[in-house]
Amino acid sequence: MTEQNGDLAFLPLGGTGEIGMNLNLYRQGETWLAIDCGIGFSGNDTPEAEILVPDPVFIAERRDQLAGLIITHAHEDHIGAVAHLWPLLECPVYVTPFAGAVLRRKLGEARILQDVPIHVIPCGGRFEVGPFDLEFIPVTHSVPEAQAVVLRTPSGVIVHTGDWKLDPTPLVGPPTDIVRLKEVGDEGVLALVCDSTNVMSSGPSQSEAEVRRSMTSLIASLKGRVAVTCFASNVARVESIAMAAQAAGRTVVLVGRSLRNLDVAARDCGYLSGVLPFLTEQEVNDLPDDQVVMIITGSQGEPRSALSRISMDVHPSVSLGEGDTVIYSSRMIPGNERAIMAVQDNLSRRGVRVITDKEHFVHVSGHATGDDVSMMYDLVRPRYAVPVHGEWRHLTAHAALAQDKNITPVLLEDGDVLRLAPEKVEVVDTAPSGRLALDGGRLLPMDGGVLAARRKMLFNGIIIASVAIDDEGFVIGEPKVSAPGLLDADDQESVRVCEEFASAIDMIPDELRNDDKAFCDAAKTALRRALGRKLQKRPLVDVHVLRV
Ligand SMILES: [Zn+2]
Repeated sequence: MTEQNGDLAFLPLGGTGEIGMNLNLYRQGETWLAIDCGIGFSGNDTPEAEILVPDPVFIAERRDQLAGLIITHAHEDHIGAVAHLWPLLECPVYVTPFAGAVLRRKLGEARILQDVPIHVIPCGGRFEVGPFDLEFIPVTHSVPEAQAVVLRTPSGVIVHTGDWKLDPTPLVGPPTDIVRLKEVGDEGVLALVCDSTNVMSSGPSQSEAEVRRSMTSLIASLKGRVAVTCFASNVARVESIAMAAQAAGRTVVLVGRSLRNLDVAARDCGYLSGVLPFLTEQEVNDLPDDQVVMIITGSQGEPRSALSRISMDVHPSVSLGEGDTVIYSSRMIPGNERAIMAVQDNLSRRGVRVITDKEHFVHVSGHATGDDVSMMYDLVRPRYAVPVHGEWRHLTAHAALAQDKNITPVLLEDGDVLRLAPEKVEVVDTAPSGRLALDGGRLLPMDGGVLAARRKMLFNGIIIASVAIDDEGFVIGEPKVSAPGLLDADDQESVRVCEEFASAIDMIPDELRNDDKAFCDAAKTALRRALGRKLQKRPLVDVHVLRV
């Protein structure tokens, strides 16, 4: 691709579409800067690959020119891929103290903590990375210390919001710094690269303080055991639940590993100082039912989460039943609906009352509404609007909102290279983009052979035959056939397929018997024929030929 000197460019590699995992790149001259590096969850679309990361091949090939990676906040879709992709990027990472605490634990688990140069920047700090003159501006979001990033470049000033909302009373951390945003707007801003997640909601954002009040009266009114599920990283919400519990004379117990990890990171950074230390799940049974509030992981129906186990009554230390209540203090992330409903169904079957944000005011979004976004445009007054982080209907609604304010919107697909210049902002090139699946510890291309085979096996099973042949290619003994995921070993059909396969390979022409590959191909055809059409399946077919 063309890399003109002096030019500024923006390249999103994973922020558009249904699964938002953020990896944003900026180029100044020949130097690149990355902002955020997150994972996405595939939901029902690709059951063979649960966790996805943006394919970093474009920037990995240019890692010598990559000056650094900035993390705007500690959500998985912004920070979760660092531990997996850093070995391909090998650049310094810039974080706030809280994101740093979360990142260190992840890098420690991946055994690369010692390798990664981490620079902790205070909230609202100004710093330089290569040729980039950068400034953090604190914004409110559903995690502590979210920051917008201002990039001052020879081509102009760019404001990259990250995830944000307006909330005059966020309770943990400061409100979005609208004074500073306006001052940056006064400098003259070329482009605003802005979060679109909640742009289709109208009215001003609701406040965390309102949730706290509502939660306090709700918990005070409940009998029996009370459990609340929310995102572990939503420290303000965890604090709201803890305060509501304390007001009702209940002790707070944390259930689930990610909550315990986030509790440590939050307290290390000075958060949650106003609430008593939480008890562990092993201590829950020492407390009377009406004196406990459990905060539990699993608001998205994750099958291995604590709440999912509790709903099936297979959790080692916690059980819930008749007279108890579970509050979902979270939203349903699209794609997770079925899994969440299954957990709620199991809870209801046990007699547990389930309360969601449909029945009671127990959650507010961490993302800017349309009104908030409109206010952001009034503050920053950019010449161009670049909507990011949302599905296409969100991005187009965001673009229409910008247009109404006489700001020129530019819609990008992942991989589009946007030249940002005062005289013209336009897409000038396309970079390779895509997704990799995190499979155990490996990264696999979604369209590669391994996952293609996995998909095929998932829906059609696999059939494998083993045949021993002698020097001249004649079969020794009986061939073995197995078809896991397709046929049980003692199925009559297995026996039939094996017999038909055995007689078919006896018919293979003699001239193919001295060539292993030719024999193998003929044997695969024989196996496919033996399987026939009765099952109406097209499984993966493989034959092992052992010449003995
Ligand atoms: Zn976020």
